[in-house]
Amino acid sequence: MIEIVQVSLENEMDLTLAYKKSIKVAEMLGLTVSTQTAFATAVSEVSREIIDKTFDGKASIAVEQDKDRYLLTAQIFFRYSDLRDFEQNLQYAKKLVPVLELVNNGETGNVKLQLSIPRSAKLNRARINLVKHYFDVEEPATPYEEVRMRNLELSKLTEEQQLQLKQSNYLNNQKNEFLSVASHELKNPLTIIKAYAQLALSVKEETSPAMSNYLKKIELQSSKLHALIQQLFDISKIESGQFDYKIEQVNINHYLNEIADLIKYTVPSHQLNITLSDDEFFANIDKIRIEQVLSNLIGNAAKYSSAGSEIDLKILKGINNDITIVVKDKGIGMNEEVLTRVFDKFYRSEDVLKKYTGLGMGLYIASKIISDHGGKIWAESKLGEGSSFYFSLPTKEFAA
Ligand code: ADP
Repeated sequence: MIEIVQVSLENEMDLTLAYKKSIKVAEMLGLTVSTQTAFATAVSEVSREIIDKTFDGKASIAVEQDKDRYLLTAQIFFRYSDLRDFEQNLQYAKKLVPVLELVNNGETGNVKLQLSIPRSAKLNRARINLVKHYFDVEEPATPYEEVRMRNLELSKLTEEQQLQLKQSNYLNNQKNEFLSVASHELKNPLTIIKAYAQLALSVKEETSPAMSNYLKKIELQSSKLHALIQQLFDISKIESGQFDYKIEQVNINHYLNEIADLIKYTVPSHQLNITLSDDEFFANIDKIRIEQVLSNLIGNAAKYSSAGSEIDLKILKGINNDITIVVKDKGIGMNEEVLTRVFDKFYRSEDVLKKYTGLGMGLYIASKIISDHGGKIWAESKLGEGSSFYFSLPTKEFAA
């Protein structure tokens, strides 16, 4: 079926349009004047009923092929409302065309009108395409028709956009699903590799110094890989809105003391100085997630500075009821442009791309965690001199 033209049916003016277009199509397909009139009158009669009794009417005029014959078809679609006397009122139109069928699809329906085009009209595909092209590029005859055509184009566009949106949402969900499953599947064997490396390291008497060195390397690299996989897992959770928190009230000094050794262990090649506060601060936090933020900031401080250099972790007294924690390094630093983008998802500055490994996810995840805690995260830096990453946390209650 080749659709030649479409008219939406909302009011009396649309009837005139439906009539005129039906006549024009029939004329261009080579039908006689009396057949043109009969067809167009039947279309407008049915359209009148549709406008009177239903919603969302639309007439579609098309050419169908049945073996070696062509049929002129008008389908008038609608959404049902009260259809009392509807069929009865189609009686007049029924007399004008050989085929008139009412198709009921539950909430929607359509009336199909059809007549066959005589062979004498010598119709072929090329001619049908020409007729279709005529209506595709046809200029509107009246201002009303112009508005109508624009509306039709707009609604087609909206439909296309909605379809595209649906497709991109679907792909996005698939991507998140894949990230979630893949990172989960990768984590399991890695945890086992790491555990065996640790086990082998613990059997000291059977391990030569060289072997123990290799095992330490396996352990360190699997920890790094584990952290990267964890980041992928977190991104998939953030994207699907499933990044949740287990909040508890903690004394920040005690908390930092608890995790100090663990954090130091992750940067063995640097000197990490931790300065706690003289005051006691209590905050509502997810301990694991805040540890993740700290590990990321300290891991970056170590990654982007030379081995042996100092890293400071300090609690600063904040304004009002906030506390601020800073992680300061003496590394490569960042310029102004990089500083404005470091918290963007997947961002990595040009100068680190080739020299340092990473995926550009850590600071994005950290900023999500801090903002979900009701805090702020920011950075200060000078190229070649080092960087300071700050984050604040409210020390009063917050609801996650
Ligand atoms: P990754 O380190 O995996 O690239 P992050 O999201 O942790 O990802 O960091 C994003 C970018 O911010 C890094 O690629 C780097 O360009 C810059 N950056 C982060 N921390 C530092 C730092 N301490 N010193 C210099 N640049 C940094």
